[in-house]
Amino acid sequence: MKKRWLSIVSLLLAASLLAGCSGQQNPAAQTTAAASAQTEAQTETQTETQESTAPVSEETDVVVIGAGGAGLTAAYFAREGGKEVILLEKQIMTGGNTAQAGFFAANSTHMQEEFGVTYTEEDQYNFVMETPGVDPDFARRFVENSGLTAEWVVDTLGIKVTSVTGREIYSVDENGSKLPNQMVSKLTEANENLGVDIRLQSPATALIVEDGRVVGVTVDGPDGTYNIMADAVIIASGGFAANKDMIAEYAPDWADAPTSNTSATTGDGILMAEAIGAATSNMTEFTFNPTLYDNNGVAMSVSGVRYEGGILVTYEGERFTDEMANYSDVAYAEVKKADGKAWAIMDANALACNPNYAVSADTIEELAEKIDIDPAVLAQTIADYQAGYDSGEDAFGRTDMRSRLDEAPYYAVPVIPGVHHTRGGLSIDLDGRVLDTDGAPIPGLYAAGEVTDNKLLGNDPVAVGVTFGRLTAQTVLSDLSEE
Ligand SMILES: Cc1cc2nc3c(=O)[nH]c(=O)nc-3n(C[C@H](O)[C@H](O)[C@H](O)COP(=O)(O)OP(=O)(O)OC[C@H]3O[C@@H](n4cnc5c(N)ncnc54)[C@H](O)[C@@H]3O)c2cc1C
Repeated sequence: MKKRWLSIVSLLLAASLLAGCSGQQNPAAQTTAAASAQTEAQTETQTETQESTAPVSEETDVVVIGAGGAGLTAAYFAREGGKEVILLEKQIMTGGNTAQAGFFAANSTHMQEEFGVTYTEEDQYNFVMETPGVDPDFARRFVENSGLTAEWVVDTLGIKVTSVTGREIYSVDENGSKLPNQMVSKLTEANENLGVDIRLQSPATALIVEDGRVVGVTVDGPDGTYNIMADAVIIASGGFAANKDMIAEYAPDWADAPTSNTSATTGDGILMAEAIGAATSNMTEFTFNPTLYDNNGVAMSVSGVRYEGGILVTYEGERFTDEMANYSDVAYAEVKKADGKAWAIMDANALACNPNYAVSADTIEELAEKIDIDPAVLAQTIADYQAGYDSGEDAFGRTDMRSRLDEAPYYAVPVIPGVHHTRGGLSIDLDGRVLDTDGAPIPGLYAAGEVTDNKLLGNDPVAVGVTFGRLTAQTVLSDLSEE
């Protein structure tokens, strides 16, 4: 870590003076202010203001911003490669959205072999490439590395796989914790054991730039604002689904929609990097989730209500889509054909959410009455579904039906659509270097996970984040060794 103190401290000071605050809420504003104030600050205020208000500064080799799947993995591999690493996390615990996820996607692993599943690199490549607009080079990079990464997760962290469906690898432990959640807690421990300095409640608020190179970050820690100077900064702060202003800008039709994401998913890394000249791409690409449950104002994703055999009906009691279609297609159908709200109807075989969320009854007619639907309409809808189940010809083309919906008790859960995944983000090269608006890498700045536009357009984001987190750490190690 090289010494670069005075100009950087003054630059940050000017920023905090202009922003008029020490606990910054708007990283972009701070960095922009820093840029415009740089000249005056360096010539006029440097000496006197440093004495009274200079934030505490320290040095490390690598700073990672965000302790979800991508950040924990990047920190782990950077540390394993011999670097001193500080991992900043905004929330009171690690995990991010990764901790909410269900599966890890990969190909050609021993886990798949053990479950008798054949799923090759070409299978995964072809699957990913089915999404229009996916970049073939990024797709190849991902599928070449997803298997190795999944085996590292399972073998090194010690996760017991409990089922495999094609590319999807699952684990549910005795506490009900799923694979990605187990992964983040074990990775957190592994990072601590390796000596990564994990700092909770410590959001990064700005990137520090000197002579065109990112040389550190400003942190709003529990005890105040300070700078960390570093040879490399890896942004892994997740997407922007919980940033209402950004959703209004990039998906105006969904501006008032809820999100399944944590409240920390506010696009901080995108805003910080954009403020110093980073490019973004695919910002208007999203995955929308059709089955959010409003739990006293907190939106919870209850995808199992369709995946485990339930159907979706309008508030008039009629089906409107193939419930097993992809997230966004079902969400769009819900908006267009169901007035933006639906009931998930399940029987005892298909119940796949917290029963406390559900209205239940012993008959379909009784259930209909309880949720204010005409009993004859809902009974006819179920009868039609059962006819499709028996003949294998569903009226909406659904092929995976799972339950005939004929075993009492019956359940109904109100669901609404919302923002689930932001597919665009910081433009990166194949190795995780953040690009500027001319397409050139910004020295010292890297990114992985949902904060990036990884050109895979929402495919398998947990595996993509962890895979590119590992690859990006390797890029950092290699770039730093060449300097
Ligand atoms: C309910 C749900 C279910 C899902 N299920 C699946 C699934 O089964 N399979 C799948 O592949 N994908 C799934 N996804 C998507 C997937 O979980 C995410 O896209 C992926 O985990 C993102 O990983 P990440 O590390 O980039 O971001 P995150 O895991 O969100 O981590 C980002 C971290 O950065 C922190 N942070 C934010 N700003 C700052 C800052 N300024 N300073 C410091 N820290 C900051 C956040 O607090 C967070 O801890 C699901 C998503 C949700 C919401």
